[in-house]
Parts: sequence; structure tokens; C-alpha cells
Amino acid sequence: MEECPRCGTTLERLSLGDATTVACNRCGFADVPVEFESEGEDLESWTEAFERFHERVVDPERRDDGGS
Ligand SMILES: [Zn+2]
Repeated sequence: MEECPRCGTTLERLSLGDATTVACNRCGFADVPVEFESEGEDLESWTEAFERFHERVVDPERRDDGGS
């Protein structure tokens, strides 16, 4: 298990589509994949995708996209 470089909390493994990453629930740190270039403004869309992912985890029945 990896640890958050910011606060040392054990990072959680997450999957966003084809991308797999780790994130910290404590301080919000997210290890962004290399191919996902995230600098400045892109950080916002990443956070959005992140929140959407959390919604699915909390409310799996909410997902309404076919996924195909
Ligand atoms: Zn952290």
C-alpha cells in the first residue's frame, strides 16, 4: 500500500474508466496518471471526475450510463 506524500495516510486505489490511480481521502491528494496531463485548470475536471466516482461508490444504483 502506498502512503500519501502529504499527510501519510494510506492511499485508496481508484479506477476511473481505463485509468487507475490512488487518492487520499484525508487531504484530497490524488496521484494522477502520467498520460493524464493535469496542470492548473485541468485539475478542476479531474476533481469533478473524482466526485462523480465517489457518487458511484456511495450510490451505485445512481449510475445511469450504459457503460458500453
Ligand atoms: Zn493525504
